[in-house]
Parts: sequence; structure tokens; C-alpha cells
Amino acid sequence: MDLTLTREQEMLRETVRAFADEVLKPRAAAFDRSREFPLDNYRRCAELGLCGMMVPEAYGGAGFDGVSYVIAIEEVSRACASTGVILSVNNSLFCAPVQRHGSEAQKRKYLVPHARGEKIGAYCLTEPQAGSDAGALRTLAKRQGDRYLLSGSKVFVTNGIAAHTFIVYATLHPKLKHKGICAFIVERGFPGLRQGKPEHKMGITCSGSVEIVLDECEVPAENLIGQEGDGFKIAMATLDGGRIGIAAQAIGIASAALEESLAYSQSREAFGRPIADFQAIQWKLADMATEIDAARLLAYRAAWARDHKERCSLETSMAKLFASEACMRAAKEGVQIHGGYGYINEYTVERLFRDAKITEIYEGTSEVQRLVISKEILRED
Ligand SMILES: Cc1cc2nc3c(=O)[nH]c(=O)nc-3n(C[C@H](O)[C@H](O)[C@H](O)COP(=O)(O)OP(=O)(O)OC[C@H]3O[C@@H](n4cnc5c(N)ncnc54)[C@H](O)[C@@H]3O)c2cc1C
Repeated sequence: MDLTLTREQEMLRETVRAFADEVLKPRAAAFDRSREFPLDNYRRCAELGLCGMMVPEAYGGAGFDGVSYVIAIEEVSRACASTGVILSVNNSLFCAPVQRHGSEAQKRKYLVPHARGEKIGAYCLTEPQAGSDAGALRTLAKRQGDRYLLSGSKVFVTNGIAAHTFIVYATLHPKLKHKGICAFIVERGFPGLRQGKPEHKMGITCSGSVEIVLDECEVPAENLIGQEGDGFKIAMATLDGGRIGIAAQAIGIASAALEESLAYSQSREAFGRPIADFQAIQWKLADMATEIDAARLLAYRAAWARDHKERCSLETSMAKLFASEACMRAAKEGVQIHGGYGYINEYTVERLFRDAKITEIYEGTSEVQRLVISKEILRED
């Protein structure tokens, strides 16, 4: 079994790390404070081909494999976790479903500009009353001639402040449950779409989360992805890919917490010696490093499975669950190693701690990942 990265993957890591250190990291604290959507970060990432990483070159993408995607999102998130999720949503939650389930015309019209990073995509599944239980969504889709009218409200939409295009999930009738759900490509300018209130968040403060309100929003019938009733399957298959992106984001945040802690523990002195001399601190660092490596291997395996297997929910949920919980532990210990300074916002670990928490919540909470995993292993037995 060969666990080494290819020369191309190594080169990608070097390139993205250098870019992230030079461009993203120095701006991250200021964006965290201002909460402004980091549009220039997105443009710079587009120049490197990071917006449509796994999309074939023929459709404007960079044609990378899944492991390369994990590497890039990790490196970006190590510097700026908000930019990490902004990219992950455009890549995994917008480009991937259009590439996998869209018509040729949809790919030409929507995939190409989003994969090139000329446009920003968003994913609208969650509603005020339906998060984990996405099958209970109530946004209605009514067919009227050659268009659909969508009515309802979507919350927590990442990229929503800046997005040009949204994939909106709506139902033909709530009584049909999962079977009634459809996926639509909706442009910001379609009549009846309105941006609601922005969310004020604990972490990833500049990822542009807003409510999106649809009031008989007019969507051409050709913007339905797949067939009527395919939406729930598309949403779930999309989240398999999305979870790999969030695992990578979590690994990036955790790696940053470890780096900050390694540096601080060797410079901070207590009782006449660097705190890194104390075994209590050494063990925290050892646990952080071990869990980050384990998370990375799980994420690589999930990415490989997504590239090569028909079903990969087990691998992607395991990677997301483990990486996000390891990330939270690393961020917590990072603050602890910094003592009182870790609680002060001049120190990077304070932001990392706030950014880490969301990885255990979005694209399926840890409880939901455990549900998916247990269902899969019980199915196999
Ligand atoms: C910053 C941010 C960005 C987001 N971005 C997007 C986005 O771009 N697009 C989008 O569509 N959504 C987005 N979300 C929504 C996110 O995916 C949901 O918040 C998440 O799936 C949880 O749903 P909920 O908040 O409704 O919690 P609920 O589903 O109400 O869950 C509440 C609690 O109950 C638990 N629970 C629920 N059901 C079960 C069960 N069966 N067994 C055990 N425990 C259970 C949950 O794990 C959780 O602990 C975002 C959320 C945030 C906070």
C-alpha cells in the first residue's frame, strides 16, 4: 500500500501553502473582525484554479483528483478557515452537483463560470424548521407552464451575500417527503429572490451567511437539475462530497492550532523553563499531531473513495466526524497551551477555537454522521 503523495500533489501543496502564507494568512484576522466577504481572496484562489478543482478542464475546471482537493482546502483553511469553506461550497456544493447531475446546457451555462471562479455558487437546503431532517423542507415548487415558482425561506446560506447562483431544494408537495424534492439552479436576478438578514456568527465570520427568501421566485423549467423528485438524492450525494471539504477545512484549522502551540510552547517560560519541557504540554502536542495525521488519512481515503466508488457515505462521514472532533480538541488544547493569552483575540488560537466549532455542525452534525455510519455498518452486517 503506497501512502505517499504524487509529485503533482506535493507540488500543489507547496504552491497553495506558499500562497496561503503570503496572501491569506496576513489578512485573516482583519477579515474575521470586519466580517466582510473576502472577495479578493476568492479571486486570487480562482487564479490558482481552486474554485473548480475537480471539474474537467473542458468545463473550466482544473481537473484535479479528490486527494488534491483535500490538500488545497486544508492549506487554505490553515490560513483562513472562512476562505476554506467559501471554496468548499463552490467546489463541492455547487460545481459538483451541476457536473454530476446537470444537463449539457446547464454545464455550459453555469458550471463553466463557477469552476473558473468568475462566479460564486451557494447551496440552499436548510430551512428554519428543517436542518438535520432535510426531508422535512417546506419550500414549495409549483409548475406553471415553462417555469417553476418557488416559495419559502432558506437559512444559514454560506456565500449567500456574494453568490451569483444558488442551488435551491424545494418540494412539489411536503406530503411526498423525500420523493417530492427537486433541485433548481436559481440566479440571484430571478424575480422573487430576495436576500434576507445576515447571520452574526461565533466563527468563520466572513463566509457571507444569509437568509435567502423566495417569493414565487420564477425559475425556468430548464433549470431543474435531473428529474422532478431527484432533489433529495442529489442533495445527499452532494453532501458526501461536501463532507470531504469540511474534513479538509477541519484538518487545516487543527494544523494551524498545532503550529501556533508548537511555537508558543517553546518560547513561553514558566518555572524557569519553556513550557514545552513539561510533559503535560508535550502530551497535548503529541495527541494533536497524531489526531491530525489520522484525520488526514481518513480524508484522503474518503476522497479516493469518492473518485473511485459508487457509494462512499461511510468513508466521507467517518472522515468528517473524526476530523471535526479532532479539530475541536486541537483548538481547545491550543487555547489551553496559550494560557490566558489564548483567550485574547490578538492570538490566533482564539480565532481558531471559534472557527473550529462549526465543523462539528454544518453539512451534517456529529450526531448525523454517527447515524450515517451506524446505518452503513449495520447494513453491511
Ligand atoms: C455557519 C453555518 C453555515 C451553514 N451553511 C449552510 C449552507 O450553505 N447551506 C445549507 O443548506 N445549510 C447550511 N447550514 C446549515 C447546517 O447544515 C445546519 O445548521 C445543520 O445541518 C444542523 O441543522 P439545524 O441547525 O436545523 O439543527 P437541528 O437539526 O435542529 O439539530 C439540533 C440538534 O439535534 C440533533 N439531532 C437532530 N436530529 C437528530 C437525530 N435524528 N439523532 C440525534 N440527534 C439529532 C443535532 O445533531 C443537533 O445537535 C449552515 C449552518 C451554519 C451554522
